[in-house]
Amino acid sequence: MALLLFSAGGLLLRAEGSALDTLGITGNLLIGQPAEQVFAAHPEAQRTIRRAFTGEAAAARVTMAGGSWLLRAHPIRAGEQLQGVVVVAAALPQDEPARDERNRMLSEAAFEGMVVHQDGRIVAVNDALTVLFGWDADALLGKPLRMLFSRPVDAAAVDAAPCETVGQRKDGRQFPLEIRSRNLSFQGRPAAAWSVWDISRRKQAQTALEETEVRYKAIFEGANDIIFTIDLKGNITSVNQSGERLLGYSRVEALTMGVDEIIVAEHLDRALSMLRSGLETGQLPVSEIEVLAKGGGRLTLEMSGSLLAADGQPIGLLGVARDVTERKRLERELAESESRYKLAAQAANDGLFDWDMVRGRVYYSPRWKSLLGYDDKSIGDAPDEWVQRIHEEDRPDFLVELDAHVSGRTEQFEFEHRVCHRDGQYRWMLSRGVAVRDDGGKVVRLVGSQTDVTDRKEAEARLIHDAFHDALTRLPNRNMFLDRLRRALGRARRHKRLFAVLFLDLDRFKVANDGLGHSVGDQLLMEISDRLRTCLRPEDTLARFGGDEFTLLLEDLSGPQDAIRVAERIQEALLRPFRVAGHEIVTSASIGITHCTTEYDDPEAIMRDADTAMYRAKALGKARYAVFDQRMHSHAVERLQIEHDLRRSLDERGFELFYQPVVSLRSMQITGFEALLRWKHPERGYVSPAEFIPIVEENGLILPLGQFVLLEACRQAAIWQTRFRDAAGLTVSVNLSPKQFEQTNLVQSLASILQETGMVPGTLRLEITESHLMAYAESVSQLLNELKQLRCKLQIDDFGTGYSSLAYLHRFPFDALKIDRSFVDRLDKEEQANEIVRSIVRLAHGLRMPVIAEGVETAEQLRDIRALGCDYGQGYLFSRPVPAEAATELLANPPVW
Ligand code: C2E
Ligand code: CA
Ligand code: CA
Repeated sequence: MALLLFSAGGLLLRAEGSALDTLGITGNLLIGQPAEQVFAAHPEAQRTIRRAFTGEAAAARVTMAGGSWLLRAHPIRAGEQLQGVVVVAAALPQDEPARDERNRMLSEAAFEGMVVHQDGRIVAVNDALTVLFGWDADALLGKPLRMLFSRPVDAAAVDAAPCETVGQRKDGRQFPLEIRSRNLSFQGRPAAAWSVWDISRRKQAQTALEETEVRYKAIFEGANDIIFTIDLKGNITSVNQSGERLLGYSRVEALTMGVDEIIVAEHLDRALSMLRSGLETGQLPVSEIEVLAKGGGRLTLEMSGSLLAADGQPIGLLGVARDVTERKRLERELAESESRYKLAAQAANDGLFDWDMVRGRVYYSPRWKSLLGYDDKSIGDAPDEWVQRIHEEDRPDFLVELDAHVSGRTEQFEFEHRVCHRDGQYRWMLSRGVAVRDDGGKVVRLVGSQTDVTDRKEAEARLIHDAFHDALTRLPNRNMFLDRLRRALGRARRHKRLFAVLFLDLDRFKVANDGLGHSVGDQLLMEISDRLRTCLRPEDTLARFGGDEFTLLLEDLSGPQDAIRVAERIQEALLRPFRVAGHEIVTSASIGITHCTTEYDDPEAIMRDADTAMYRAKALGKARYAVFDQRMHSHAVERLQIEHDLRRSLDERGFELFYQPVVSLRSMQITGFEALLRWKHPERGYVSPAEFIPIVEENGLILPLGQFVLLEACRQAAIWQTRFRDAAGLTVSVNLSPKQFEQTNLVQSLASILQETGMVPGTLRLEITESHLMAYAESVSQLLNELKQLRCKLQIDDFGTGYSSLAYLHRFPFDALKIDRSFVDRLDKEEQANEIVRSIVRLAHGLRMPVIAEGVETAEQLRDIRALGCDYGQGYLFSRPVPAEAATELLANPPVW
């Protein structure tokens, strides 16, 4: 069963129930969509719901998602006003339930446990019982029977009838079971054989059913209308709280009554024949019936209903009744006498009007005038006092509706419109009226009321706004974006216009969010969305699609270049650091661009391609954009291939370590190596880890691979340390992935590697990337200390690319700092880079950390880093990463730099 709740404005507010998946209404994608959209492919369902919005309950049988459904749509009202519509969709029974039931019984029977007992002790059990309870047969024989149950079972009761109780397994777990008993004789004396079934699944199904019932009940009880059911004989079988309240009978009283005791005598015949025809046709036409409330009062109910059926057989009627007594009374009074009408007018909260169609004069009640902020004297009796105050957008429809009623095409005049208040603001009013005709059928008067519905209108507008906007940034949300995209697609198709979608994902947002706290993350998102706004034209749509994803819809482009310019503008705008809560945060975004041609059928395909392009931009190194092209589809396939090859290489020792020397800038001697992983790809040769580390981090292969690197690097270090006399202090650095921190036995296995290989203690250096450190700051501290206990040295890698300050690093026990290659690269190009490196070195030395400069490629860079006070250097100038034999050669015959 599924329950769908629509707002008075027709938008889907909530959807719940186990059947949503099967109905095809999954996820929150459809929340906020109009009913027409929710049931896009089902005109029958749309019709049914439309009827409910006109105030009538309606039902239809609909074939959807391969099943047959009964949809019932009920209007919900508060007083006179429609608040919304509830749709209950119930699957119509097919053969499946019966088959399920059989399967369940068969499977329960297959696991029928059997225990024979005598004088309270177990004397025999079958295999199924040992499986059910987890005990071996030997452990049970001779033991007291009660050990199988969590509470004592009354044997006499089981004898008399099958009963349900709770079993207890060997592992202590409890489960519901059913027992049936049979008497037999064992070794000449009476004994009992108990059959035992595990009924957990049956129970679960029952609970699920009960939960559905609870929800259904909430709606049933919450409705303002009376909802009731009667059986075929006309006995009341259920009634909701509104029924109790309005009729005054308690539920218990009502359930002993027949409808004939409630309906007033004059209406009884008509009502009964209506019910009978309802049973035949399955539908109760809407009709008004007078009933007797407890204590003798009379109520007029407007009733509708539909057939209740179980397994295809009618079992009664479901009725919805609305108390219209008050309306009836007012109508009568209005029609009866003018003086009483005036009295009613003063009492009622609504403003009243009486439009004399013959003389073209309107009587507006004082309340009518005060709703608009005027006293009784300030408004005359001309129709224009009203019509001219109506908002000009609403006025034409107002007049159309009015004419429709006066000319007899509608039963009632009813229209919501804005009217200008004395304070100059517009208020929403609901105007209703009925024409009074003379004997010839000509309309002489129109009498009715006007209610201020501004509050409800605003609440509705807020509801709609919230459904379509992100609460944090106030930007349109995913729903709204997809909606606009859908419309843009339609427009583009009609007018052959070019538009584009940009999918923007912040790079390393998680680092800032986890490292600096979520409130900083939230503020950052707000600042970013403000800055993004400045890059757009007013007609562009910027939405927060989710988490750290933003999407942009750019319409009416003159060419593909336009979208690219926007992407470039955005990237430029993000270059300036953000200041949030005292932190200076540098961020960037990867942007995927799709140009939307008319080849696209649906927004989802566009989003998928923009997303693919965004991933491409990420893979190319982030902080850039990529334009979608058809080849990117094959990228995903390629990736699968890579994963497959990686797994195979792991079995076949398809990996190798390269070594890159680390050179002391004082002695210009090699003091160590950094171990860098290479994948020996069968066709592509040596592949850089930059390409496959992200993949193995994601699929878990990083753990065995990381293990291999550690073992291999330590083994090689030990070889060098024994082979070369001056190399006892030679260091080897190994890169650690954050995923390895989560490995529970990292410290332990590293300890045994160090022992096994015999590497000189204190010469292994572990490198941890700065941004990883930020992301895992909370959990990593203790682990780092444990690694230090093993006398491993810790180095912070790629420094300058994350967000950390040196003061923050002070909390961690680091021994050295590696300045990221990008700074060294900029040294001879930008003066600013010099300044940055100088201050990093100064601060690191203050914390007693030597500094290693990475990526030294030119003699000028070498000169600069020496001048700036770096302690070590590493880079192509000294040597590229090389295989172990070549590294050995570097140690045997050190080059002169
Ligand atoms: P990294 O730790 O920053 O390693 C330095 C990278 O810079 C290496 O790339 C190296 O070949 C390159 N490089 C060294 N000198 C120069 C130079 O003068 N100019 C330029 N342009 N590049 C230079 P590689 O070997 O491709 O490694 C890339 C990244 O992969 C490493 O960055 C590291 O983060 C990761 N990685 C490498 N091996 C392992 C490993 O065994 N385990 C883990 N978890 N990550 C690894
Ligand atoms: Ca490194
Ligand atoms: Ca590095």
